[in-house]
Amino acid sequence: NEPLEVVDPEIAEVLKNELGRQRGTLEMIASENFVPRAVLESQGSVLTNKYAEGYPGRRYYGGCEFVDVAEELARERAKSLFGAKYANVQPHSGASANAAVLSAIAEPGDTILGLELSHGGHLTHGMKLNFSGKLYNVVHYGVDPETFLIDMDVVREKALEHKPKVIIAGWSAYPRTLDFAKFREIADEVGATLWVDMAHFAGLVAAGLYPSPVPHAHVVSSTVHKTIGGPRSGFILTNDLELFKKLNSNVFPGQQGGPLMHVIAAKATAFKLAATDEFKERQVRTLSGAKLVADALTSEASKAAGVDVLTGGTDVHLVLADLRNSELDGQQAEDALHAVGITVNRNAVPFDPRPPMVTSGLRIGTPALATRGFGDVEFAEVADIIALTLQQTGDVEALKARVTALADAFPLYPGLEEW
Ligand code: PLP
Repeated sequence: NEPLEVVDPEIAEVLKNELGRQRGTLEMIASENFVPRAVLESQGSVLTNKYAEGYPGRRYYGGCEFVDVAEELARERAKSLFGAKYANVQPHSGASANAAVLSAIAEPGDTILGLELSHGGHLTHGMKLNFSGKLYNVVHYGVDPETFLIDMDVVREKALEHKPKVIIAGWSAYPRTLDFAKFREIADEVGATLWVDMAHFAGLVAAGLYPSPVPHAHVVSSTVHKTIGGPRSGFILTNDLELFKKLNSNVFPGQQGGPLMHVIAAKATAFKLAATDEFKERQVRTLSGAKLVADALTSEASKAAGVDVLTGGTDVHLVLADLRNSELDGQQAEDALHAVGITVNRNAVPFDPRPPMVTSGLRIGTPALATRGFGDVEFAEVADIIALTLQQTGDVEALKARVTALADAFPLYPGLEEW
């Protein structure tokens, strides 16, 4: 029962350093967030000890009476939050949720149609080295080369041409809303199953700030750790009982063994918090912050430095900086922001002229800073810092000092020295 710093000082040091990094820098990776202390508590709890293969009330292990309560709460809260009839909250991650979904709705060799990875899709939507690309016959739709928007006429043409078994809607890097009703109409026209992966925008959906896919899709998958700001994990929703049964057996025993009950308990808490007014207000600040970043990167000064924003702005929690005309490539821009204390990730832009390890874009997200408490004033300040850095006009030390002032003004996990 010795504490971590006695048992394993090297790992204790990693935790301490990481907490310091999170506190001292501005986290703008669009897929990241800060979980509340309550979520850290469940995840670091004795529930990690429990095996609970099966589902509540139908387990293959004894002693599940308490973890059953946690899983029921998580399921009920997920259903109520998104207005879905059925929920599976066992996927360990977004990728394992997606593996279970695909194995439930398609056979190996079937054709699946999803958004091209380099146009904002996800690895699990058919990338060739991923299980989805290896097991299925993948066809892609992309964004329009002029507008960078998904053109539903093109989606329909591809669907009519390839007659996919599955149509996938959802993205990791796309700054606009999707027309889920139209996706469903196309799916119905070609007899496909519509699967929406809302991993990125689930928090916005929960807050009523992004169209909900739940009334339109046959099945919806998600992560819990991006805009929702819960534990790193996944879940699946559907309104179809027969499909729900198939999804359940494709999660367990299909893809997974014992569920992570400590994480499921933390999911229950995250869904409870996501139903509050505070959560909605945070998502409003998230969107407003992203618009301020987009404004700063589309200013005259930014354009003069070759910096722009794909689609000219954003409807969501992220901005895709377009650096095709900038002296800085994606890698250099990521490094320049890192040097002033802002963490982002470089991202290929569609039809990127630069190689994938370098890229001509950045994905900049606001969820983590909104969770930290940022409002319009702070987001305007951070947007200015980003713009000056990408324009290469600001003094690095002065910009770094402005980042530190913002970080200091919004302390992260105050009082949590042990984490
Ligand atoms: N689906 C989408 C759209 C994502 O953006 C991601 C994460 O990047 C995932 C699925 C996978 O989630 P995880 O990293 O938890 O496997």
